[in-house]
Amino acid sequence: MKPKILLIYTGGTIGMIKDPETGALRSFDFTQLLFHIPELKQLDCQIETTSFEEPIDSSDMDLGYWKILGDIINTSYDDYHGFVVLHGSDTMSHTGSALSFMFENLTKPIVLTGSQLPIGDLRTDAKENLITSIQLASEWDNNEPIIREVCVYFEYQLYRANRTAKMNAEHFEAFSSPNYPPLAISGVHLNIDRQLLWQGGFDRVSLAKLKPLELSPLKMIYRPDMDARVVVLKLFPGITEQVVKSICHIDGLRGIILETYGSGNAPTCKWFIEALKNALLKNIRIVNVTQCRGGSVDMGKYETSVALKKLGMVSGYDITTEAALAKMMYLLSYMPETGDFKKYFETSLRGEISV
Ligand code: ASP
Repeated sequence: MKPKILLIYTGGTIGMIKDPETGALRSFDFTQLLFHIPELKQLDCQIETTSFEEPIDSSDMDLGYWKILGDIINTSYDDYHGFVVLHGSDTMSHTGSALSFMFENLTKPIVLTGSQLPIGDLRTDAKENLITSIQLASEWDNNEPIIREVCVYFEYQLYRANRTAKMNAEHFEAFSSPNYPPLAISGVHLNIDRQLLWQGGFDRVSLAKLKPLELSPLKMIYRPDMDARVVVLKLFPGITEQVVKSICHIDGLRGIILETYGSGNAPTCKWFIEALKNALLKNIRIVNVTQCRGGSVDMGKYETSVALKKLGMVSGYDITTEAALAKMMYLLSYMPETGDFKKYFETSLRGEISV
């Protein structure tokens, strides 16, 4: 039996070709995929395709589209051995992070990929990205998929999706994963580092302690609802009281991802700490995430983060802002009112933080 892969086209540059007459980029008919990439026939797997009704630029990605994508995977979960999602690169890390939380106890790979140049361009990076993503999604061992998590494949590297960020708008090497090594590297051989793959073990042990999030080690659980009442507040020298207070007073706000400096440092002025304190008193959750791409929050290391630590602020450790947002949206939706948000957030649920 050959592995069966579902290829899902959501939109983005990868699915575009140049109109031979006008020279303009347009989406190509996805049902004609094999015509444009006949090489796919050589792969040792069965490929079926589906597409968003109206493919989108990933800048238009939102919670509604996440649910459409999640539903496609969830409803066909038992019929395929792996999923490859073609997605614009701009928000690929956000979608990858969201999917990683939406699917608990994943037993199959979900690989997101895209490209910097359209598939119809002579110098395209799309073909390699697509072909290798499909190969990785169909890697088997004793009839079991080897990869059981949500990944991003781009320019010869496979990453854990919730560890990635888009860092270059031009280079083929568009993504980085500064706090977790690539899960696989494509060279002459496809080298998967099995030690680095998500096994779910830590997740289960941690969650067992952190009841009552439902726990079922064998069955995949799909949780598609995300709470959008969150905001990212990025600190910068000169940020005003008015800006911080206005954000903390947004009607119905439930969570703030506070992008701090370095190892989690922030201004020490009274109005700033007071504004955060009042927000916490209103039950708004605040997570301290560093603006640095690499490294971790370590509250209390410097004088400038002692006050935040004293407030009992949640540490994002080395999580990316993209993953922190998705995790917050997920926890705000599914964590029971009485649950300890800090405890849940500071636990690695899908390998998104090193703790
Ligand atoms: N703007 C495009 C998108 O994210 C860029 C890309 O596909 O890489 O949909």
